[in-house]
Amino acid sequence: MEVGIIGGGASGMTAAIFAARNGAKVTVLEHTGRIGKKILSTGNGKCNFTNQKLSKDDYNCDHPSFAETALRKFSRVAAVDFFENCGMLTESKRDGYYYPATGQASTVLNTLRYQLQILGVKVLTDQQIEEAKKEKNGTFCVKTKDRIYRFDRLILACGGKAAPATGSDGSGFRIAEQFGHKIHKPLPVLTYLKSKEPCLKELAGVRCRAEISLEAAGELLQKETGELQLNKDNLSGIPVFQLSHKAIRAVDQKKKTVLFVDFLPQCSEKELESKIKKMVQMYGPLPVSEILGGILHKKICGAILHKASITFETSMKKLTEKEIQQIVMLTKKFRFEIVSFPGFEAAQATQGGVDVAEVDENMMSRKIEGLYFAGEMLDVDGRCGGYNLQWAWSSGYVAGCHSVNGEVQCYKSASAE
Ligand SMILES: Cc1cc2nc3c(=O)[nH]c(=O)nc-3n(C[C@H](O)[C@H](O)[C@H](O)COP(=O)(O)OP(=O)(O)OC[C@H]3O[C@@H](n4cnc5c(N)ncnc54)[C@H](O)[C@@H]3O)c2cc1C
Repeated sequence: MEVGIIGGGASGMTAAIFAARNGAKVTVLEHTGRIGKKILSTGNGKCNFTNQKLSKDDYNCDHPSFAETALRKFSRVAAVDFFENCGMLTESKRDGYYYPATGQASTVLNTLRYQLQILGVKVLTDQQIEEAKKEKNGTFCVKTKDRIYRFDRLILACGGKAAPATGSDGSGFRIAEQFGHKIHKPLPVLTYLKSKEPCLKELAGVRCRAEISLEAAGELLQKETGELQLNKDNLSGIPVFQLSHKAIRAVDQKKKTVLFVDFLPQCSEKELESKIKKMVQMYGPLPVSEILGGILHKKICGAILHKASITFETSMKKLTEKEIQQIVMLTKKFRFEIVSFPGFEAAQATQGGVDVAEVDENMMSRKIEGLYFAGEMLDVDGRCGGYNLQWAWSSGYVAGCHSVNGEVQCYKSASAE
């Protein structure tokens, strides 16, 4: 059995390893000069390769159960076991994020490369694919500038469009279209969100714990809590990344999209109001900007006072009831309208891609027998925290096994044998 894989990223390498372990002769065709480039920049160079807390709800997909089988057949426990058994020490950090114990993403890439090497997988780089099709006799024909390759099974693992400098430039979608597959509009995800709110200029540089709520066309879509980063023209940080899927979709659909920031999530509106009123009693003659500085970052305090048109020197005792209510409201629900989002260069992943309604749970095309997909090419994207690489491992495992055996067993630990 000859299996061809287009794309030598996380999912393509995993598919290659498991197709080869199941006895296939495997060839990986990669169009850049090296495989697995993107892995090197993951997790800030440390590669957060899975997460201890993982369920299908951590993924965005139009058909939520689509990813479930693959995630069960090759779970996060399997991912840790697989890498450990390939000789890579792993460790779990804050919030259950898993990394290689070396703290280096290159360890993950090398572990995969060594597996490909010992399994005899042929890795061909600088392969510009001109055409891919299935011939009448059932073989897949892949044409590059210099050669024609023929395979019994073909796995497309070309990634999406995020970080195109690493090779995922969206050309894989064109190959999928050549096979008659529908592509849902690719959009960036796991990235920052742009706002023209004038206060951002003075808030730039603030990092604070906050609860953020996303509303689109007046409907509350998602809430996230974590460290928010404010920059002169955008909001960033993990909580923003986590809701970027829905926010970017809403902006793309031209819906009025707003992020409301609660700068004091640990304190209710009522508690904050009575705290401020207590401070009015205690510090009557002192300026409001100084006293509020005791509960809020100085720059946040300044932005709130500007927005409420309260001068910094106003004494606490001069605050009117209405002004106190405004301070409370702006602290708990500061409004940032989201007007746009950055390009794929600044995104960690892609939303959209190959329509999963046309692919079965074994990652095989429902249109073309023997054609498979794996990884970010598919219209599945995960939260920030190791979920996208886990999807690459899981879908790669399933595609690799099924392409050879026509069935997929749950991953079995090599150490249990
Ligand atoms: C900066 C950054 C940080 C990230 N950090 C994390 C993290 O810590 N944890 C996590 O889970 N996820 C992270 N991700 C996301 C994760 O890296 C991806 O979801 C994952 O690598 C997708 O794997 P893939 O194999 O589907 O695609 P890719 O890794 O993009 O690989 C696709 C491969 O196919 C090749 N290719 C594309 N088109 C063609 C073609 N036409 N012909 C031949 N070859 C082709 C590409 O050159 C590439 O080698 C991060 C992403 C970025 C950009």
